[in-house]
Amino acid sequence: MTVVKPIIVPVITSMLLASCATATVSENTGTKLAKSCSVEGATLDTKFPSGNVASCQGSDDNEFTVSLKPEDAPPINCSAWYAFRVTPDSAVTESQKIHINLNYETCGHRYWPKTSVDGISWDYLPKTDMKITEVNGVKQASITIELDDRPIFVAGQEIVVPGTYRSWIDGLTQSAQAETFLLGKSAEGRDIPALTIKAPGSTPKKHVVLVGRQHPPEVTGALALFPFVETLLADNPLAQKYRARFETIIVPILNPDGVEHGYWRHNTGSTDLNRDWGPFEQPETKLMDSLLTEIENNPDKQLSFFADFHSTRNDIFYTIPDEFPTTPPLAIKNWLGLLQERMPDYEVKRSANSNLTQANSKNYVYKRYGVPTVTYEMGDETDRELIVEVAREAAMALMETLLAHKDE
Ligand SMILES: [Zn+2]
Repeated sequence: MTVVKPIIVPVITSMLLASCATATVSENTGTKLAKSCSVEGATLDTKFPSGNVASCQGSDDNEFTVSLKPEDAPPINCSAWYAFRVTPDSAVTESQKIHINLNYETCGHRYWPKTSVDGISWDYLPKTDMKITEVNGVKQASITIELDDRPIFVAGQEIVVPGTYRSWIDGLTQSAQAETFLLGKSAEGRDIPALTIKAPGSTPKKHVVLVGRQHPPEVTGALALFPFVETLLADNPLAQKYRARFETIIVPILNPDGVEHGYWRHNTGSTDLNRDWGPFEQPETKLMDSLLTEIENNPDKQLSFFADFHSTRNDIFYTIPDEFPTTPPLAIKNWLGLLQERMPDYEVKRSANSNLTQANSKNYVYKRYGVPTVTYEMGDETDRELIVEVAREAAMALMETLLAHKDE
């Protein structure tokens, strides 16, 4: 069995356990509709951050059937998220085999199930415990889990929720190089935290902006963003030089409501936030507009690079084409070229589309500011250690690339 190496701090455990005790899902709102159903000896529920199934039903023979569908129709991208917990009845002391049918109304099964008893260490469900069938062209899954005397979480990806980010930010801000500030509030009033990194006392003109988690199920993008940012904070000459010349502003979770609810794609305004750059009709994307406009309007500040962290089926960097002028020039080509040099055994895949009509962050920020922009995508099931390695090398390659450009 492959262990998904956790890079997340332990606060998630206490959060999940606390939510278990109080049956609340968030400190801010109680708008989430949690689901729950039982079989003899066990209960399935979604009363924790990011827990979500459309409905559930228990039947005889230790079998649950959960139905899965997006928060609103139709999703433009089939990110078929699910997360639930199975808890044994306190009277049951022997382990029991539980069967769970994952019935997808649309899109079909995508994420390999992962299980955890503590919310920190995650295991891939063994292949032998999952069966995939296709019904009317939609992939359905049925899985078997071994339940002992502890609750077990089953989810499409590791559970990385607003509390996880809070704890991560708290850890980083122990360093004098990092400070946190509140970018603003989501539609449901959740905090959208931001982090700024620079040498203490310095006022770098050049700015790098990183954003993450516009799309709730895209956890591997978060698993990349964490080590990427930590590398910018490292105690070595390259990172020190970078922090003296560049301020980095990170908004690691732009869609906390969608994450909390376990949505497949949208925020609570039924909007794909990464199609709202330009219109800026949603409170979350409006905050990004304000952040970028503030940099633009300050003569002592200049945007130099923008990256947006996501997940898709495979690792890929979506960029603007090299023929499109940027300041600094050819930074994407140089950066990804350097990353490839640093990781000869890893294929750096890039897709450069010259059609910039889609209202996503990469297109908008390039069109408005003329800086190098990238959508940094990690594969859904990319090895977790490889995600970390790529992120560290990519961050070092970026610092080298940006520092090599001397103009002011
Ligand atoms: Zn995405």
